Amino acid sequence: MNTQTDFDVIVVGGGHAGTEAATAAARMGARTLLLTDNIETIGQMSCNPAIGGIGKGHLVREIDALGGVMGRAADRGGIQFRTLNARKGPAVRATRAQADRALYKAAVRSIVENTPNLSLFQQSVADLIVDGDRVAGVMTTMGLAFHAPTVVLTVGTFLGGTIHIGHKRFGGGRAGDAPSNALSERLRALDLPVGRLKTGTPPRIDAKSIDYSQLAEQPGDEPAPVFSFMGERAEHPRQVSCHITYTNETTHQIIADNIGESAMYSGQIDSVGPRYCPSIEDKVVRFADKASHQIFIEPEGLTSAEVYPNGISTSLSFETQQKVVRSIAGFEHAHITRPGYAIEYDYFDPRALSYTLETQAIAGLYFAGQINGTTGYEEAGAQGLLAGLNAARAVAGESAWWPRRDEAYLGVLVDDLITRGTIEPYRMFTSRAEHRLLLREDNADTRLTPAGRELGLVDDTRWAAFEAARAAVAGEQARLSAIIVKPEDLGADRGERLLGSALKQATPAADLLKRPGVNHAQVVAIETVGAPDLAHLNAETAEAIGDQVEIQAKYAGYITRQSAEIEKTRQHEATLLPADLDYGAVSGLSNELRGKLEDVRPATIGQAARIPGMTPAAISLLLVHLKKLG
Ligand code: FAD
Repeated sequence: MNTQTDFDVIVVGGGHAGTEAATAAARMGARTLLLTDNIETIGQMSCNPAIGGIGKGHLVREIDALGGVMGRAADRGGIQFRTLNARKGPAVRATRAQADRALYKAAVRSIVENTPNLSLFQQSVADLIVDGDRVAGVMTTMGLAFHAPTVVLTVGTFLGGTIHIGHKRFGGGRAGDAPSNALSERLRALDLPVGRLKTGTPPRIDAKSIDYSQLAEQPGDEPAPVFSFMGERAEHPRQVSCHITYTNETTHQIIADNIGESAMYSGQIDSVGPRYCPSIEDKVVRFADKASHQIFIEPEGLTSAEVYPNGISTSLSFETQQKVVRSIAGFEHAHITRPGYAIEYDYFDPRALSYTLETQAIAGLYFAGQINGTTGYEEAGAQGLLAGLNAARAVAGESAWWPRRDEAYLGVLVDDLITRGTIEPYRMFTSRAEHRLLLREDNADTRLTPAGRELGLVDDTRWAAFEAARAAVAGEQARLSAIIVKPEDLGADRGERLLGSALKQATPAADLLKRPGVNHAQVVAIETVGAPDLAHLNAETAEAIGDQVEIQAKYAGYITRQSAEIEKTRQHEATLLPADLDYGAVSGLSNELRGKLEDVRPATIGQAARIPGMTPAAISLLLVHLKKLG
């Protein structure tokens, strides 16, 4: 019977992990409850108002390829879009959207509220109902019991959350929200390894008090990219610029003079913070030789007068924060609307989870997001999706699903967490993926949408759009292969102007794309080639077809080689490495990798391949060496 208290999947927490987990489970048909302590904060961005960036944008595209929320909400809430690394190779190109906090949150909430099979309930969860070694539901602070065979906990920075501003400290899940102390105590009583991490946020500033004439303007890209495969530029709200300023020697002196106030340097906090998102006091201490640090002034929204000064996260006292801020060009008369702060919270060692993010200790209990030691909306959303879909599959009696490292950044993320754990807040980078060329933002849909469709995550509309795009790419590849371009088709200079160098012999149009610097637009500009008919696709999808055909043509050789190396490694996953193997005798191995292998002494090729920094080429050298040894 479908009652108000019995469900298949209960998701606790309405942040980035929770909304992806709940909508994924519901899309797959599971009766799902999203229990969160405040419905008004569903989809709230606790820190910077931005989605994506290098490595993170890749995760957003993957979440989207599996039918998730984040990319669609970013298209509706994004007020400045940029493609980062636009001039570098396609593997490291990444989309980033500056978001209007209110619009982003409203978009997430609207998707959540309009998802069939998904119910919401506002109440804080204080306890888990555990039956032997299985979870059976949750209990709220009011004493209400909700039952389900699977529970996904996505409570972010709230477990035992402690906020620090200078020497002051108080409980909080983030500014304005109470911490989850009862749940923290309950989880600490279970057989799960727990630790403390910290993160921080900068003060917010009233835009009216900033002298923008002193700041450099940074507009978004024109035309603006879209995040979702289903996204359209027309969905974007009005686009605005960000601005840039810098700290200076006075700023650094103020920080150095008051460093003892910083919760971290006074010894008030000893947990580890995000290395790649350090506080301003961290930057001043660690990079003492740098005379200035860049600050991006990011608008909080189209109707908000607050800005987010990205780069000066701090836990110094409010008085010192004011001095620091006012020492910066353009901020001389700045009015702080909210002080910056650091927050410490409980996290659980992800090595105690399985690949589905289910805890090994308690069947049916899943953890996703910041609770697993990660940082960032995108990392949280990706985990939420994985946990939610697997909870739904477990309830339906279906086998677990997760992507491999060579299939998705989501696969890299979960494998890193499960096998290596983390001692500092973990964020995604393209450098974490050994198969970067295969895991591009632009092919997230071809990598994952077919699996998403089989899993029941991808609806008919998206599937039809995906198939149309896939057919258009294949059609354009076939068309360009069939058209032979002759040197005389290119005019008097035989293509020197258009293609960089003259064409010497008749060549299939598809092969022209293999030339460095030649793009699809240039090839279709040749009169005898002409443009493909893509009128049946929306404008954004049609634009992507040319890029796709070009990337596949240009990188075909590398992609085939990388795929072959992956296949070879996979075949050798279980091949044993002798415990006393002399890695010094493996010819061609770099000193760095030899050192790592000697430290870890992996038992199998599979384990060797997962050592951080290990390359497919080094694995090939090991295989050659093993063959020599007989
Ligand atoms: P959250 O977004 O925190 O969502 C948790 C949800 O659980 C909330 O909806 C909350 O209301 C709900 N909840 C909590 N306890 C309960 C309970 N007992 N019962 C019911 N509901 C509950 N990320 C970066 O990438 N870079 C940064 O520099 C950065 N700085 C940060 C600074 C601060 C101060 C904070 C707070 C976060 C920062 N983050 C940063 C992290 C980013 O906000 C998180 O990574 C992201 O929000 C994690 O998503 P999540 O879904 O795991 O948790």
